[in-house]
Amino acid sequence: MPYPNVPANTEPPTELQDHVVSTIGALLSQYAPCPRDLTVAVVITEDFAAAVEDAWRISGVDFGLFDSTRPGGTVHGKSISLNDDRTEWRTIIDSHWWCADTTSAERRISLLAHELFHPRLERLRIEAGSVEHLAGKVDTPAKGARWSVRNALDEFRCDLAANSVLGALFTVETDQGRRPLPIGLLGLKDGTSYLGAVADVFDEILPEWKHVLSARQSVDPARTSLIARKTGGLLTALGHAEAEARSLGMPGVFAIPELADHALAALLRVPWVQICEAYDHHQGWDDIHLKDSAIADVGQQALLNLWQNLRIL
Ligand SMILES: [Zn+2]
Repeated sequence: MPYPNVPANTEPPTELQDHVVSTIGALLSQYAPCPRDLTVAVVITEDFAAAVEDAWRISGVDFGLFDSTRPGGTVHGKSISLNDDRTEWRTIIDSHWWCADTTSAERRISLLAHELFHPRLERLRIEAGSVEHLAGKVDTPAKGARWSVRNALDEFRCDLAANSVLGALFTVETDQGRRPLPIGLLGLKDGTSYLGAVADVFDEILPEWKHVLSARQSVDPARTSLIARKTGGLLTALGHAEAEARSLGMPGVFAIPELADHALAALLRVPWVQICEAYDHHQGWDDIHLKDSAIADVGQQALLNLWQNLRIL
């Protein structure tokens, strides 16, 4: 299999870049059904934040200023739908990262595959009949829980899709001969592994959760809403780490030794395993809207239980 030559100089888009995008698109179409009606423009830009905020403006959402930091990593690409039925998308990539000598071709391909799968996933759901995106404001803990679960699993699924593209284009030498390059190994090689970062993410958040757990009176709503939102970020990091773990043949993210005795793992392992089991049970692309809804039911209950254990509900 030839290695794709990802161009370093990418503004304006080159034919080679178009070729890379279409190669990834073809591989993604082997991995999952291709939506009927979907257009994605790939933009590689010097002003990443401004381009993201501009796309948000077009799509009519107000998320304020874009922050590329996430628990466990930094975002270098973002896919944003421009219209309500999610047929038009912009995939925006930070050119400083894309063109950097430290960014490998494998990492570029992986990021692009991940980002290009977001629009596909969203459209597949809507074409299957989902009306979830029309549900309106996320104004209750239950709705927040559902969105947190869905967002985390979307990251997980997009990483698995990227893993399949990576494995089709790149190989690695192992004791058993050459094997498809797994996304988990890529992360360990270039130091951007979520699996390697998840214990630090847990360490960072632990004092705040301990504070809530030890509070004598009920905690104020602004604080609980922040914790609920941070649960979403935490789950998203777990989603990435879970994909990396599985790509390496591990049973899941909580199999890593760093989490074995972690105080936060004692709280998060059960809900996360419940969410993953629901996902495993409802795998597949047919009727994905119904499957996602069933997974969200399980995830909602798992997170509400978690928040009750934290006494923030
Ligand atoms: Zn993503």
